[in-house]
Amino acid sequence: MIDRELRNKLEQHLEDEHRRLTDEITAIQEAKMTDGGVPAVSYPRFEEGEGESVTHMPADEEADESEEYAVRQETARVLNERRDEVIAALHRIEQGTYGICKTCGKPIDAARLGANPAAEFDIEHTE
Ligand SMILES: [Zn+2]
Repeated sequence: MIDRELRNKLEQHLEDEHRRLTDEITAIQEAKMTDGGVPAVSYPRFEEGEGESVTHMPADEEADESEEYAVRQETARVLNERRDEVIAALHRIEQGTYGICKTCGKPIDAARLGANPAAEFDIEHTE
């Protein structure tokens, strides 16, 4: 079981990430409305072994507008998915079920939560 100090720290990380994702999603939506090009966004960092990988966008600066649109759509989708995971983790903190594997109910390793505070499963049951 993770202690209160670690949980508070991870909650802070989740809230920071939530804010950052929201800003980036908003920037993409605004770019979409004005068609003002691709905003500078950073991709969410996933630690190795998390089971999900980020789709890296081609760094082709000559992409035409429909390609840019597709890239923005894909970026927004990835960011939204990550934000959903972060929100779900914050709910689990509220409900007192944070840091517990959804499959087997055992505590998730603290180092694993440090790498990805939104982790839902322990190493054994990662998707
Ligand atoms: Zn498990």
